Amino acid sequence: MAVKILIHACCAPCLIHPYDLFTGRGYEVVPYFYNPNIHPFREYRERYFAALDYASEKGIKLRAGPYEMERFLAEAPSPAGERCEVCYRMRLGRSAAEARALGIARFTTTLLVSPYQDQEKIGRAGRAAAAQHGVEFIFEDMSSGYRESVRISREAGMYRQKYCGCVYSEKERFQKSDPPGEI
Ligand code: SF4
Repeated sequence: MAVKILIHACCAPCLIHPYDLFTGRGYEVVPYFYNPNIHPFREYRERYFAALDYASEKGIKLRAGPYEMERFLAEAPSPAGERCEVCYRMRLGRSAAEARALGIARFTTTLLVSPYQDQEKIGRAGRAAAAQHGVEFIFEDMSSGYRESVRISREAGMYRQKYCGCVYSEKERFQKSDPPGEI
């Protein structure tokens, strides 16, 4: 029987490369969608259903945590550097707890695929979560698979988000002036 690995999934496009990588290494991948950072709810829903479609296409079950938007807004501060670290800790903490509850010894995250995320902070958050819950965090820079994931997801007509996730990142992505002009 294959050894399992839980992969925290931030979205469907970023799940493509880690899924292929770890199944190629003989693992049974268990994707876990826990992203209370994604706002608004309709955006969260789009990303969730895209991940669900991808998982069912692969014949695997997508596990999902609750949509704790209020928790994110209460705990994540506004400045981007600190906020992202809190965001990583929140998502990886819950993923580590889920892996532990399922009896899965290892976990990693699709956040390590995106060249726009902070690998060092993700590594720190993942290791802290692993130590807290008694599992192992697999840290691996998977950003070499990013371009190919973009290509595959575009060709497949998969939903692709236009901003990182939180309301702050939505504002940073789209607001060009105050008062607002064209997007
Ligand atoms: S910018 Fe992205 S990583 Fe940073 S807090 Fe917002 S959703 Fe999380």
